[in-house]
Amino acid sequence: MMIDNHKLKSKNIAIIGNPNSGKTTLFNALTGLRQKVGNYPGVTVEKKEGKIIFGDGTESNLLDLPGTYSLSANSPDEKIATDVLLGKIAETPLCDTVICVIDASNLERNLYLLSQIIDQQFPVVVALNMIDVAEREGININVKELSKNLGVPVIPTIASKKNGIKELLSALQSTLSISTTARSWTLPEKIKFKHEELTSLLVANENRNDCAAYFEAQTLLSTPRSIDSFHGTYSTEFLTHLKKDHETLDALGIDRFSVFVESRYQWIKDVCDRCVSIRPKIGQLSISDKIDTIVTHKVWGYIIFFSVMAIIFQTIFAWANLPMELIGKGFDWLGSQVGHIIPPGDLHDLVVNGAIGGVGAVVTFLPQILLLFLFLGLLEDTGYMARAAFIMDRLMGKVGLHGKSFIPLLSSFACAIPGIMATRTIESPKDRLVTMLVAPLISCSARMPVYALMIATFIPNESVLGIFSLAGFVLVAMYLLGLFTALLMAFIFKKFLLKGNSPAFIMELPPYRMPSLKNTMLHMWERSRIFLKRAGTIILGVSIVLWFLATYPKIESGTPSEKLAHSFVGQVGHFIEPTLTPLGFDWKIGIGIVSSLLQREVFVSTMGTIYNMENGTDNTLSLRAQIQQEVDPATGLPKFTALTAICLMVYYVLAMQCLSTIAVMRRETNGWKWPIFQFAYMTVLAYVGTFITYRVGLWFIS
Ligand code: GDP
Ligand code: MG
Repeated sequence: MMIDNHKLKSKNIAIIGNPNSGKTTLFNALTGLRQKVGNYPGVTVEKKEGKIIFGDGTESNLLDLPGTYSLSANSPDEKIATDVLLGKIAETPLCDTVICVIDASNLERNLYLLSQIIDQQFPVVVALNMIDVAEREGININVKELSKNLGVPVIPTIASKKNGIKELLSALQSTLSISTTARSWTLPEKIKFKHEELTSLLVANENRNDCAAYFEAQTLLSTPRSIDSFHGTYSTEFLTHLKKDHETLDALGIDRFSVFVESRYQWIKDVCDRCVSIRPKIGQLSISDKIDTIVTHKVWGYIIFFSVMAIIFQTIFAWANLPMELIGKGFDWLGSQVGHIIPPGDLHDLVVNGAIGGVGAVVTFLPQILLLFLFLGLLEDTGYMARAAFIMDRLMGKVGLHGKSFIPLLSSFACAIPGIMATRTIESPKDRLVTMLVAPLISCSARMPVYALMIATFIPNESVLGIFSLAGFVLVAMYLLGLFTALLMAFIFKKFLLKGNSPAFIMELPPYRMPSLKNTMLHMWERSRIFLKRAGTIILGVSIVLWFLATYPKIESGTPSEKLAHSFVGQVGHFIEPTLTPLGFDWKIGIGIVSSLLQREVFVSTMGTIYNMENGTDNTLSLRAQIQQEVDPATGLPKFTALTAICLMVYYVLAMQCLSTIAVMRRETNGWKWPIFQFAYMTVLAYVGTFITYRVGLWFIS
């Protein structure tokens, strides 16, 4: 039986474009629900595939590529886009047609990538997206003229409203039947001739195909390397020719390195001059621009930034109090109800002290976490976060990194894991590594329960300068300590360990927007689910294991605290106590630190379990009250003071204490070297930092 192969094989189409041009939105509009998400082999870049169904029922595969500004870029995400396009990735077929998504409100920048794609002679359809934004900004594009100048079909679209999808589909269908596109730009005459000559030499003498020869000739003409270094790769005859070309061009005063990039931009500029008219803006500055002159100001910018942070952390404390009390009461009630049902004995203690006590101690801090995410979400949605990154870019420059590194650091306020993943957009491998190494120093949401417990227990309810509460003030101080230590360590790593120049960074400020309540709520809901899930799994597990370790081996007689001291936990705690005494910590805090190596919030649940056990089952005091009332038998004074609380917070600001981050670091750096280094340096930093804090604190007190 004859099979018509051509008909059976469905075609492959790829979507490419600059970041934020609307690729994913367009992908969704084209494929609907017919999509699946996976990973490219060997790297952790997401691979999104789907199916297009055309009007006549034929199907094609559609691939959403990571955003990229050019085909010669180097960040892992961008490299994937190029490699897929050039067919260098295993299991990902060469595409038959490319949809290049272009942000119409940023035409010149976006055309650079398109010009490189056209150079590859790929059949391409341009989706001229964000036409609505361009129109709003007074940018008028003559689509017909643009299409004529580029030599490829151009379809105006508004992907977010599904406008232009039908037209795009029919343009795609016609393009699927062609196999190449003509190049529509040319080099300046003098170099053009040399380039053509060299291209044909590569084809004739060095066995290259036309397209490969075209690019290789560019590289060879612009290379700063000496011709001698190519010996062995090319024939002597060819190299002699190349050497003569270099000499001729150099003698003509042509800058071989930049001529290709520059003539590409010149061509883009000419095309835009012919196709784009810009309506002059009414008034000089939009409201957004006016706000930005203040918000990104050299002095005011920082004052506003730190005030915003201060207000947020104040509010977190003020608003969280009531719900916190209620949740605490709820768990007390649950404990006493369950306590009535289960007769006294080990099971009773396990459930009431171990499980409910441990999990309850952590879940009490859910309100703080939710408020933190509410504010982070609002900052992000309104567009303020981008301004924060913008003003921090100056600081980042001083430590040798650029602003691109600040965005991963901002994400790390929520959690270091998305922060570390966000470093994938950083081109320079060294900058990326430095950013990953310092990201966990930024105070993440898992530290919030530890800070909140310590502040609520020990920081008196006073006000500073009449407006700020001392509690909020201390919290801001901890966040700033983390931020500045991260910057300091980045500076040190960049200077001594991972030297290198950072490429320039251009950032666009998105317009200010009204935040969407729905988005923010969804985000908070997602976060509380993750937090509660961790409380119900890891924290519950650790609490139960801890209860066993704190109960056995048993002694028959003795007070609850003697029993605890005799238990396995007590023995380990007392064993490590000498290393912690210099920091002002006792063995109970030691147990908290060891058990929270896995995850920081476990510290709070551990304290909950241990204190419940030490003070016996029938105590009704909150964890805070139990810690406050503990007396040092030697001196008769309170065992813990505000200084202990501050030292403990400093320790948690600086210490690694997160197994998931270590796992992600291993995956992202492909080995154990960097995660081990990171764990080691942060532990040393935490120990030394806490020691200094304790000593300085004691000196102040006495
Ligand atoms: P990607 O990074 O290229 O995948 O871009 P996305 O598809 O994630 O889109 C970035 C943002 O632009 C999203 O908020 C979209 O809703 C929005 N967007 C996409 N297309 C359009 C459009 O044509 N007009 C407008 N106004 N917004 C759009
Ligand atoms: Mg996308």
